[in-house]
Amino acid sequence: MKAVAIRRGSDEPELIEKPRPEPKHGEALVRTLRVGVDGTDHEVLSGSHGGFPEGEDHMVMGHEAVGVVEDPNGTGLDEGQYVVPTVRRKPNGETNEYFRRNEPDMAPDGEYFERGIVGEHGYMSEYFTSPADFLIPIEEEIAPYGIFVEPLSNTEKALEHARATRSAFDWYPESAAVLGNGPLGLLTLWQLTQEFDRAYCLGRRDRPDLTLEFIDEVGATYIDSRETPVDEIPDEYEGMDFIYEATGYAPHAFETVEALAPNGVGALLGIPSSWDFEIDGGSLHNDIVLHNKCLFGSVNAGIRHFAEGAAVVEAMPDDLLDHLVTTVTDPENVEPAFEDGDDQIKAIVEFESP
Ligand code: NAP
Ligand code: BGC
Ligand code: ZN
Repeated sequence: MKAVAIRRGSDEPELIEKPRPEPKHGEALVRTLRVGVDGTDHEVLSGSHGGFPEGEDHMVMGHEAVGVVEDPNGTGLDEGQYVVPTVRRKPNGETNEYFRRNEPDMAPDGEYFERGIVGEHGYMSEYFTSPADFLIPIEEEIAPYGIFVEPLSNTEKALEHARATRSAFDWYPESAAVLGNGPLGLLTLWQLTQEFDRAYCLGRRDRPDLTLEFIDEVGATYIDSRETPVDEIPDEYEGMDFIYEATGYAPHAFETVEALAPNGVGALLGIPSSWDFEIDGGSLHNDIVLHNKCLFGSVNAGIRHFAEGAAVVEAMPDDLLDHLVTTVTDPENVEPAFEDGDDQIKAIVEFESP
């Protein structure tokens, strides 16, 4: 079967041939329809994040997938069922407390593999196998947009954790900002427009620009970080009750504290590389304490967050989802899917039309 993989020593994906995988006991065989590309895939290609499966000279790319069950293999799934796979798997197939608790997203490094990211092949191939427990059934109507379920699952988890941090008092949030106008930021922005009275999105682009048009379309306010640095957002706009950082630009993690309203909460999602820079730690510490602020990190998602992500895709208007899809290409011609220019939002590698 065809697969798109990264080889050790290379930073570009290539088309390879691999044997079709055989489902083991408890696993189903899935025919891949579409696989999305995100910032993390670029980080995997550049070598700044993730790692190859042990003993392999390549890793099949892709962790945002939608497919259709080809062979349920006695798992209870139905042949023809549309599914989205989760990303985390038991490391070397060995379980641990996090998988036993059904909370693999809370496992620390070394206690999980991530398909297409670290330790295990991804989904960018004509077929893949997976334990049935990690395949989330979705409605056929959203199959064309099924690749959005995984990134939205990450957002659902972050929102749940954010609410949990504010659950000890009467929190009535009104304002929310997404830092970053990449595919994760824009998807999340739509979700925030549904939950908050006022939503903002930070970028560093000039108009005309596809991502800024999306921000306008969902009724959010664009903040240009070149004119308004994150720490100046309260003076220029307003203090934010909730901030969702999705730039991966490390100073934003700390500036988020200053952009929060009193009692606000900031979720950090970006995955930066090592970077030394100066911050006024005393003032940040003081601000967090005296204003009951909360800053937390969030990665990956649990099974229930995938189901919630699917519900968000169902609720989101098709024209907005279409706005986000800038490239659909076949596996023989993946180069455009990994181009990262300003005219790219979500690129998709399509194995079979949904
Ligand atoms: P992406 O395509 O790299 O998007 C990042 C966006 O942030 C880009 O649009 C970029 O603008 C903007 N940006 C960067 N620095 C900025 C600055 N100083 N001011 C204003 N805007 C800035 O990545 P993505 O796929 O949307 O994902 C976002 C981040 O989250 C990545 O680091 C990714 O690895 C991470 N991630 C984490 C999780 C998790 O579970 N924690 C899940 C998915 C993704 P330009 O394009 O104009 O440069
Ligand atoms: C993926 C998550 C993963 C994270 C860290 C994100 O792009 O969507 O599933 O946990 O990267 O590797
Ligand atoms: Zn991702």
